[in-house]
Amino acid sequence: MQSSTIIDLGRFSLSYGDGKRLDLPVSIGPVELGGQAYRLTPASTQVRLDISRPARGYAFRMRFPITVEGPCMRCLEPAGVTTEVDAREIDQRDTDDEELRSPYVDEEEGLDLGRWAHDAAVLALPTRILCRPDCAGLCPVCGESLNDADPADHEHDTGTDPRWAKLDELKLD
Ligand SMILES: [Zn+2]
Ligand SMILES: [Zn+2]
Repeated sequence: MQSSTIIDLGRFSLSYGDGKRLDLPVSIGPVELGGQAYRLTPASTQVRLDISRPARGYAFRMRFPITVEGPCMRCLEPAGVTTEVDAREIDQRDTDDEELRSPYVDEEEGLDLGRWAHDAAVLALPTRILCRPDCAGLCPVCGESLNDADPADHEHDTGTDPRWAKLDELKLD
């Protein structure tokens, strides 16, 4: 779910060379990382938007801090990451060059700040959300978290899955 915050750029009547700074609350919604939804805390954040007008178009810079919370990608314990988003966009008018058109600015000079903030947040976050940088993850055999386990106490001596050992016992009956 993604909310949209559209900024009507025409409203500011900026001339070439002019600039404007806005601080706006933007609701970003959950982001999906590695197939898992992570929620932003707070869900609404204060975004600083700088708009400037170089020749024939707009240039934008957007900055805001974000914190996401959700399961550690290795051990599933609660994890969180805080980072700064700092993104730029350029939108040139009267050009056929797709590279110079921003996907966040429509034909009516509406800047979709909500969608841009959401995409920029995803790009700014690390691809792996971990409870701690050296998270040891879960034991592949029994599924116990290896962060709390003493390696000396945590061994599967036969090297085989304990479930198979159970099966062997059953066969002997
Ligand atoms: Zn972890
Ligand atoms: Zn184990």
